[in-house]
Amino acid sequence: MNETDISKIDQDVIDNFEYFQNVRRHIHAHPEVGPEQPDTVDFIKEQFKGMVDIVILEAQAKAGVVIDIICKGDGPIIGFRADMDALDIMESSCDTHFPHLNNFCSKFENKMHACGHDMHTATLIGFGKIMYEHRKNLKGKIRLLFQPGEEGHGGAAHMIGAGFLEGVQNVFALHNWPNMQLGQIGLKKGPFFASIDHFKVKINGIGGHGAAPEKASDQILAMSRIINDLQAVISRRISGLEQAVLSVCYANAGSPSALNVLPQSATFGGSIRTFNASTQDKIEEEFKRVCQNSALSIHPSCRVEIEYTREYPQTVNDESLCCEVEKVFSQFIKKENLFSNYTPTLGAEDFSFMLEKTPGVIFLVGGTAPEKLNQDTVFLHNPSFDVDEKAMLFGVQAFKSLAFNFLS
Ligand SMILES: [Zn+2]
Ligand SMILES: [Zn+2]
Repeated sequence: MNETDISKIDQDVIDNFEYFQNVRRHIHAHPEVGPEQPDTVDFIKEQFKGMVDIVILEAQAKAGVVIDIICKGDGPIIGFRADMDALDIMESSCDTHFPHLNNFCSKFENKMHACGHDMHTATLIGFGKIMYEHRKNLKGKIRLLFQPGEEGHGGAAHMIGAGFLEGVQNVFALHNWPNMQLGQIGLKKGPFFASIDHFKVKINGIGGHGAAPEKASDQILAMSRIINDLQAVISRRISGLEQAVLSVCYANAGSPSALNVLPQSATFGGSIRTFNASTQDKIEEEFKRVCQNSALSIHPSCRVEIEYTREYPQTVNDESLCCEVEKVFSQFIKKENLFSNYTPTLGAEDFSFMLEKTPGVIFLVGGTAPEKLNQDTVFLHNPSFDVDEKAMLFGVQAFKSLAFNFLS
């Protein structure tokens, strides 16, 4: 077990910890779900109110808010992004849950910052406040991108649509990581988060009496055949060297109050994740082929409607920038706590859209105190999820070191 080492964190970062904490706790207690986070945006603007050398950019609510810190001379624009949205989850009221113990649990039923975006937002605000004091020693612009709707709403794409990435040289983001110790940072060159595709499938055909299956086309049997056969897409049609996951996450047909009726239709849906765009294409093609053929193998009247959507692409870190980021981070993190080839995650991130447009890097910040990290550590999207607030020291320091590196 490593002790968390904060000896190389800058004094101004440490001195502002209480502010980071207060900001984080306010946001945690007031979570907003969905494609827009208007109250969080107001709260952010409030933090920068009345300051000179600050420009606030806004478009439609789905594009969030941008705060530019204007430094002294000409130089590049460097972007730093935080996602602001919460999830439809009822927060734990268990006595061991830190936000509950400290009286800053979500004030709203079924809404919770269970992915740590409260910490990301507070980190970016805290970083902005600190960099504001350093602006006269730097050139160019620091662009703080406060992004709404990361959890399935593609807020990053709306920010790009609003033109907020025009002229930005590089863009950086972080995600807290419960499976990593506080004080550690994980980086990865190339694909780091998977793509995500969603599918919804409806099988239509002839309904009928449970006593006379020969007069119906049995959509439930067709659905179960398709779901079974889909498991061969990844295992039999994709190289064992590729990583991909296909999960059917819901299935609906018939009614428990009609146990003698073969229903006319059946539906199911789920998601597909992979790290490689050509594998993604191949899976989509195979997916559609299996759905059609397996349905027909049950009955010629089984017709399949497929709704297949590409949600987020792979999140691909720029390789040479990643090397530079590693060097910058090694100034405040010891080698054994800085992972340059961290395990990629099959989770998806819409920061991917920003990285398609602008070279940049997303990195993971350890969020669990060493003594609390074990196989039962609660992961993201759980009602009992919490991030150790000291992770903000490392997040702010990481952004600050990058700002100095690119804008000095
Ligand atoms: Zn999440
Ligand atoms: Zn997240």
